[in-house]
Amino acid sequence: MSADLINTMATFIGIFVALLGAFLFAFWIAMGIWTFNDIRSRTRDWLAIGLASLLVLIFPVVGLILYAMIRPKETLADVYDRALEEESLLRELEETLTCHNCGAPAQDDWNYCHNCRTQLRYACSTCGKPARYEWDICVHCGTDQSGSPSPAKAQSPFTERSDLQTAEEEVGYRPAQISE
Ligand SMILES: [Zn+2]
Ligand SMILES: [Zn+2]
Repeated sequence: MSADLINTMATFIGIFVALLGAFLFAFWIAMGIWTFNDIRSRTRDWLAIGLASLLVLIFPVVGLILYAMIRPKETLADVYDRALEEESLLRELEETLTCHNCGAPAQDDWNYCHNCRTQLRYACSTCGKPARYEWDICVHCGTDQSGSPSPAKAQSPFTERSDLQTAEEEVGYRPAQISE
């Protein structure tokens, strides 16, 4: 083999090694960035974010596999969506009218319970429009109904839900903040 050929081969090998090194370096950085973004969409805990990123940077491929195995399954957006869904389900349940006497499901325009025959609505003393026994005021004219013909001041079929938080408060996260 001539010295020229050896020189040319050495140059090619050098270029190949340099390119491979550059590629591996870019791959390593990309893994770190991907992990950082992925863990940030799953937790707000900066310790966990730092540890996951370090794990992948120190043990490039093995660390990434390990991270994929132990990362939180749900993203914050998933958790937020689920909380919203539960909240709207709860609200739907609460807004289903029931008879104040026997608890049977009722509809807004029913005057009597189909189950126990209790009267569900009465005519407002001021405007004459139908008002429900659960209301404190007439929703049509605003008259105070506390002195109304209330049958034992029926307890409201609407449950108080002050103890329940909104989805946002519960998760402490708003989807819009993801692109901060
Ligand atoms: Zn009833
Ligand atoms: Zn009224």
